[in-house]
Amino acid sequence: MENPIIDFLYLICIILFVIGLKRLSHPDTAKKGNIIAGIGMGLAILVTIFYPIENEANNYLWIAAGLVLGGVIGYVAAMKVKMTAMPEMVSLFNGLGGACSMLIAIVEFYNLPTGTNMMSTQVLTIIFALFIGSIAFTGSIVAWGKLDGFFRDSLVLPAPQIINLIMLLLVIGLSGYIMMQPDINFMLALILLAVCLTYGVTFVMPIGGGDMPVVISLLNSFTGIAAAGAGLIYGNQVMIVGGITVGAAGTILTVLMCNAMNRSLFNVVIGGFGGGGKSGGSDREQVAKEATVSDTAIQLKYSNKVIIVPGYGLAVAQAQHACHDLEKALEAEGVDVKYAIHPVAGRMPGHMNVLLAEADVPYPKLLELEDANEQLPSTDMVLVIGANDVVNPAAKEDTSSPIYGMPILDVEKAKTVIVLKRSMRPGYAGIENPLFFGEKTKMLFGDAKDSLGKLKSEIANA
Ligand code: NDP
Repeated sequence: MENPIIDFLYLICIILFVIGLKRLSHPDTAKKGNIIAGIGMGLAILVTIFYPIENEANNYLWIAAGLVLGGVIGYVAAMKVKMTAMPEMVSLFNGLGGACSMLIAIVEFYNLPTGTNMMSTQVLTIIFALFIGSIAFTGSIVAWGKLDGFFRDSLVLPAPQIINLIMLLLVIGLSGYIMMQPDINFMLALILLAVCLTYGVTFVMPIGGGDMPVVISLLNSFTGIAAAGAGLIYGNQVMIVGGITVGAAGTILTVLMCNAMNRSLFNVVIGGFGGGGKSGGSDREQVAKEATVSDTAIQLKYSNKVIIVPGYGLAVAQAQHACHDLEKALEAEGVDVKYAIHPVAGRMPGHMNVLLAEADVPYPKLLELEDANEQLPSTDMVLVIGANDVVNPAAKEDTSSPIYGMPILDVEKAKTVIVLKRSMRPGYAGIENPLFFGEKTKMLFGDAKDSLGKLKSEIANA
């Protein structure tokens, strides 16, 4: 139904989405960007609720109940979630977005009027939304389970590539068969739904280890595309634009992450990388050298240039403020301090940027991978704080390593490396790190926050 007021309000929502997204591209404006896009989404929901339709369904009570329930669950989850558990929550919420598009598609298939031409764009759009939405749903649930440790990476079906190829052919064949039917066959749509849901599981199950960030971002783009598909079903512009925006942003992020890890998307989806590899070890018994707090503090104090490499352990220890305090103490002593940020450090894209911004670390102090690698050879000391995979030289040297090919921070090129972690346990990829046994490396064992606090007091007293 043409309605210029509704169209105008939708246009405002779309403009708010675009401004919000633009502002998300820089930490200084990201918070406002999020709020602006949120206002756009709130307005889009309100306008849609009051969209005048023929055959008024009068189901406002159901809608209000859904909004309140969803709003409360979302608010509580967002307030309670720990920063380190954000990727799990993003996966779960992403999956629910996919489920939404999937449900819309199956309901709309059921509601198709008798005599509908099955070989039509309308039916194709419904099948498309059903397919992408289902994969995004079950795929995200599996990704959530993997991040949460519920599913082990080693839990892989035999010959996953062949299974996935068969599943894809089955989806295409069944979709074509549904469209060739003379009439609506809801049973076939339910079978297609079951196949698509299973495909989501078999698609993500073989992927693991260091490829998880790419998969999460890929599933995120799927959810956007599924929402755009659902928008096409209803001819709803704001849903189409919102979905395409999420789909495009997710796709760009996926490509950037693949580049950052030196992997092709095809390789990620087919490869089964990083799932419980044991490479990186050596036959001879290696011994790591241990550092003391006082020695490290003195070395830091007399350095000209220090680069800090934050990793997942910094987030676990919630040591971002302690880290910033140490940085300020060192700068007061005339030391030049910078941070080297690896694109997949932590457990979500931009994890380290968010953490350090929370502690008010000035943004210009953050170096991206390439810039950091240029500066590392002229650095006196590197402090690796709770990072492991992102500084593992096996990625460059060991062709059998599951992270081989991933660009890493070349910290071993600095004059001295001190690693702050609690033990010799591996990081996310589950592999040993030869850096810890390197000539220039010493380990400062302990919780990152404790160690940083002690280092700061020692520097102040030295
Ligand atoms: P890693 O997971 O490789 O290593 C983190 C290290 O932190 C561990 O070895 C652990 O050692 C240490 N640690 C944990 N708790 C503490 C603590 N309280 N104090 C001090 N140290 C602690 O982290 P990286 O950031 O180096 O690499 C990220 C990995 O996660 C990559 O493999 C990446 O592919 C993957 N990933 C990234 C995602 C993203 O989007 N960024 C999403 C999903 C996965 P110990 O137990 O001995 O203390």
